Amino acid sequence: MFIVEVDEEHAREKAKQGADYYLKPMNCPCHVQIFNQGMKSYRDLPLRMAEFGSCNRYEPSGALHGIMRVRGFTQDDAHIFCREAQIEDETKQFIELLSAVYKDLGFEKFRVKFSDRPDTRAGSDAVWDKAEAALKSATEAAGYAYELNPGEGAFYGPKLEFVLTDAIGRDWQCGTLQVDFVLPDRLDATYIGEDGAKHRPVMLHRAILGSFERFIGILIENFSGRLPFWLAPRQVVVASIVSEADGFVDEIVALLKKHGLKVEADKRNEKINYKIREHSTGKVPVILAVGRKEMEDRTVTVRRLGESETQVRSISDLLAELALEATPPDLRA
Ligand SMILES: [Zn+2]
Repeated sequence: MFIVEVDEEHAREKAKQGADYYLKPMNCPCHVQIFNQGMKSYRDLPLRMAEFGSCNRYEPSGALHGIMRVRGFTQDDAHIFCREAQIEDETKQFIELLSAVYKDLGFEKFRVKFSDRPDTRAGSDAVWDKAEAALKSATEAAGYAYELNPGEGAFYGPKLEFVLTDAIGRDWQCGTLQVDFVLPDRLDATYIGEDGAKHRPVMLHRAILGSFERFIGILIENFSGRLPFWLAPRQVVVASIVSEADGFVDEIVALLKKHGLKVEADKRNEKINYKIREHSTGKVPVILAVGRKEMEDRTVTVRRLGESETQVRSISDLLAELALEATPPDLRA
């Protein structure tokens, strides 16, 4: 963990409280603290808490690897507080959500690994029996086979891992669903059951992407840098062929921006082929070239990444097409 150094004034405060300060390495305990605010009833469960939570971990420098492993990152994290009987339904719903997200991001295939009880563990065998059975049947009900990793579960509960296969067959472990019997106990999370007595909720830790940073790395690998149009950080570059067209370039850029497209102008005094080469290398999906002819006709010459042919299009036509492509798949009509 990162230890926070404090100045003199805060050092006195720190001494009073007898506490050290650290940057948050995980979100789980904070979510239990939120759960613990106020009394919870069995009617409140399942209670799902999601956070794109930023975490900091002081990884050894040798373990750092580009964008794949960094010391400050953002997890697509969530915790589900539920009753034992709800584990199966929650798991099923999670797998459905996860497969929809993977599909939108261009991954049709993934495998499921199931890790069951290790030798050293917390919780009774009866509880492990129930949790393991719930994970297995939820996976099967969602239509997936699983590979078994015997004894590879955490001491606090069994887990599912979701492994993506990318365009050239490489595997990436991304999603996880981890059942946890221990943390709610350690942090004294309770709910009032139908019987009027206090009970411990089960906690499910789950992430779909893992961390955004690493997942962006996986996307770049999978698409060899050529991200789908709706995901590309620069979707369109409008390049002038002659400097007289600069005003028209600005007009088109403003129009595309107004429609939510991520667009830049290139009005540099360079040859159009030079500009096209540069933006193609930068994997910009759509390059619009604009010269005198286009200006007079109010058209653009469209060059799509990876295609050798160009197209002359009216601006309104092109705008409708790009606006659709820029919409994430699950929001398209
Ligand atoms: Zn967690």
